[in-house]
Amino acid sequence: MDIRVRKIYEALFALEDLREVFRQAVPATATTIGLDEQEEEQISKGITRLETILKELKDGKGSPIKHAGTKAAGLDLRTREEEFININPIQAGGRLTPDARKALIAYGDGYSVCDQCLEGRLDKIRNPPVDEFHAELAEFVGMDVARVVPGARRGFQAVTSSLLEKGKGDLVIVADLAHYTELLAVELAGGIVKEVPSGSGSASRSRSGSARIITGDSVADTIERAKEASGKLPKLIMIEHIDYSFGNEHDVYGIGKVAKEYGIPFLYNGAYTVGMMPVDGRKIGADFVVGSGHKGMAAVAPSGVLATTEEWTREVFRGSQIAGDITGRIFKNKEPELLGCTLMGGTLISMMASFPAVKERVQRWDEELRKSNYFCREFLRIEDSKIVSEYPRQHTLTKVDTSDSFDRIAKTHKRRGYFLSDELKKKKITGEFAGSTRIWKLNTYGLSWNKVKYLTEAFIEIAEKYDLPVR
Ligand SMILES: *Cc1c(COP(=O)(O)O)cnc(C)c1O
Repeated sequence: MDIRVRKIYEALFALEDLREVFRQAVPATATTIGLDEQEEEQISKGITRLETILKELKDGKGSPIKHAGTKAAGLDLRTREEEFININPIQAGGRLTPDARKALIAYGDGYSVCDQCLEGRLDKIRNPPVDEFHAELAEFVGMDVARVVPGARRGFQAVTSSLLEKGKGDLVIVADLAHYTELLAVELAGGIVKEVPSGSGSASRSRSGSARIITGDSVADTIERAKEASGKLPKLIMIEHIDYSFGNEHDVYGIGKVAKEYGIPFLYNGAYTVGMMPVDGRKIGADFVVGSGHKGMAAVAPSGVLATTEEWTREVFRGSQIAGDITGRIFKNKEPELLGCTLMGGTLISMMASFPAVKERVQRWDEELRKSNYFCREFLRIEDSKIVSEYPRQHTLTKVDTSDSFDRIAKTHKRRGYFLSDELKKKKITGEFAGSTRIWKLNTYGLSWNKVKYLTEAFIEIAEKYDLPVR
């Protein structure tokens, strides 16, 4: 542990205590001075305390704080991103940018974006520029209209709820690799899923593992089979560009074409792409683009985006129709699929604050792929280790199989599968599935070259320590 990390937190918290003095005090006006004597003393003491902390920070000395906030809340200080290389498969793209963290300090209060809500609609707030952000967000994913939602899953739900009719046995095409939230969104709307089999892929695409890919053809086959069995066409095709399991890239362009041919709306699930790589929904032929703020857009959870075309806006973002039976109250301005407003504070602010950096980082996707492939190439030097995902990699989320390498050590090690976690922890690497030495996933997204090289060397060193052959 580098004590300085703890001291930085301690200083940040001390500043918050100073800030609180102002929050509690009567504000200063033209005729009053604001802080009273006691409060001025609190400020003065607070600054002295801060100076002590800064001195300790500078000297790398002092005792480390352990908690975020009061001990009673039981929140350990979270230093995973400061003190470790985090290879957790789902956390990489949601790591906050410094700008998001700063904005969060200023906009952490509950309904903080609602200071100047003139129309009762989140997406029409002009200060902070939420309206402009919505327009840019739509453009960013190549669609006409966008709304922010509490997670990609809520985006799926808004669409299934709009497009499916309860009790009709409406069909939705999903991949056999679909995320569980897609199935739940169909369930809640009363639909039935028809899974597209991803098969085992063509051998040429995978050197050391099966490449399971959803293609336009396999989607068309599934539509045909569903049509034959039920006599009707599915109401929606919902497929992820990159699946959560293998991190494989699926043929969304081909699927977009098939969707057009059948006249079935296509929801492009970009949970692992929006905010990480360039996404152009129009070019893909998507009717809906869904992204995840906390998975891919450097934002606080739960956050995400649902974007669509002008045509579908009328349906999915329709205004409320209900009226109170006694009061006759109506809410035409509110969009029922979103339950009116969605992200009214820190979640949205973090998305907005990260957005300039996110727009820029998607342009560097090729570099992310180079790092991902570099890692895999080096990792494969550990004999009998395998990349289960398609290879070469088209994404930074990768499934590996170490049944014939690290798991051989686990079989006789007194710590069993945890030996690998122990070794990684010693090297300040975290986020692997603890205790797992057979099939597991990691994500190199956003790691610098320095970190990627350190990471690969770490695995090789661990292999060598346990006499696993390294080519
Ligand atoms: C993570 C993930 C989701 C869920 O995203 P949330 O924003 O957490 O709702 C959906 N689909 C895929 C493919 C995912 O990887």
